[in-house]
Amino acid sequence: MLAFAPPMARTNRVAPLRARLHGFRAVWLRCSSLRAPARSVVAPCQPARKPHTRARSTEEYRLNRPHPALFIGHGNPMNTLEDNVNSRAWRDWGKRLPRPRAILVISAHWETEGIAVTAMPCPRTIHDFAGFPKRLAEFSYPAPGDPDLARRIAQLLAPEPVTLDMEWGLDHGAWSLLAHLYPNAGVPVVQLSLDRHRDAAAHFALAQRLRPLRDEGVLILGSGNIVHNLRRIDWHRHEGGFSWAERFNRRVHRLLLEQDHAGLCRLDEEDTRLSVPTPEHYLPLLYISAVRDAGEYLTPLNDHIEYGAIGMLSAWVGHMKPAP
Ligand code: ZN
Repeated sequence: MLAFAPPMARTNRVAPLRARLHGFRAVWLRCSSLRAPARSVVAPCQPARKPHTRARSTEEYRLNRPHPALFIGHGNPMNTLEDNVNSRAWRDWGKRLPRPRAILVISAHWETEGIAVTAMPCPRTIHDFAGFPKRLAEFSYPAPGDPDLARRIAQLLAPEPVTLDMEWGLDHGAWSLLAHLYPNAGVPVVQLSLDRHRDAAAHFALAQRLRPLRDEGVLILGSGNIVHNLRRIDWHRHEGGFSWAERFNRRVHRLLLEQDHAGLCRLDEEDTRLSVPTPEHYLPLLYISAVRDAGEYLTPLNDHIEYGAIGMLSAWVGHMKPAP
């Protein structure tokens, strides 16, 4: 069922986030030596013009087929503005990626009842947090949307009902990364929500149906964190994880390399309970694993844990390794 439906029932995630993210601000304020890199002026959103975006596809996308897919651990929202080890690595990946026709983001920060995909021509920049510096609250990422891609996603997921959403936009799980991967905000972006009623295996099965998008010039980007436990964060521990976090991170890293999908979907071990106390930051990883072909390269990035309990491990999936 496709429908421009009324607003979906959503949990108000802003209030809990305010409390959970307050500590991030405290850490950032202590790190006064960190400076935001200069950001070029980005033009306001202009709805994507189909002839332009499609015209690039024929030759360029055939050569880059299938398009790489990425999972990125986004961590602290201040990574959007800071010049640090994480953001520098993301910028480096952005330079190595072939230019996609569009981007599909599966963000930890959009959970819904049922499945939704953003379908507006100009998605707003959502500041789904509080307590951060004003310049982050005013950050804008004016990329166009791609209603055609939204309908294509709904088609691929049919007969599952998919709501073509006209209200969400881009949350910080999307724009904190895109600000570095594509600083000019010139590539159309669509977000797919996480249906909170599905378990890990069901998310994986759903995501497998998105695989054709990689042959259509779409960059599929999962944004979350493999280890994500805000209650266990140690703000004085800038590098290295707790033992359970390090063990879980190593386990997932190995399962990714072995393409052990069943293992990745198993979230019932002791280390998993602490590393993935709630599933929303882990699930985007499954979307990238699910669209990976057998034997495709997986290139890790940012394999470190911050504040004891935030894993930054990221993964580039592709039929070729990232260009040097
Ligand atoms: Zn997050």
